Amino acid sequence: MLKIESIQDGIVIDHIPEGRGMEIYQLLHLEEQKQSVALLQSVRSQKYGHKDLIKIEGTTLPERLDILGYLDSNITLILIQNGQVIRKYHPIPPMYLKNVIKCQNPRCITSIEKNCDHIFKMSPSGTYRCIYCNQEISVHA
Ligand SMILES: [Zn+2]
Repeated sequence: MLKIESIQDGIVIDHIPEGRGMEIYQLLHLEEQKQSVALLQSVRSQKYGHKDLIKIEGTTLPERLDILGYLDSNITLILIQNGQVIRKYHPIPPMYLKNVIKCQNPRCITSIEKNCDHIFKMSPSGTYRCIYCNQEISVHA
């Protein structure tokens, strides 16, 4: 059985829906991290059946962890310092989503310009809209 305690300092991304661990690994750019990263797929979970899980060792946390709050509200972050769990929380969806999802409007500048960043801003109602053309995300990821 997997032991979170085996990390001395780092973060565990827990309760990732099964099969989405690799997508999250790529969205967080974990391949660029110079620290130990482990992606575990189809871990048995009492609460959710099966889940994916990512363990990141080290005191430097990846940027963009808040996009996990957009991707799935069940995802739990577990912060570990000196071998102790110091915080467990669900990330809050960010105000801006940058290069996480693509605008679906074929006339949007991001559909035409290949090097354009895909940026969405949260509206007061909690949905995300493209900052260029105001298109709302129609399908939640
Ligand atoms: Zn757009």
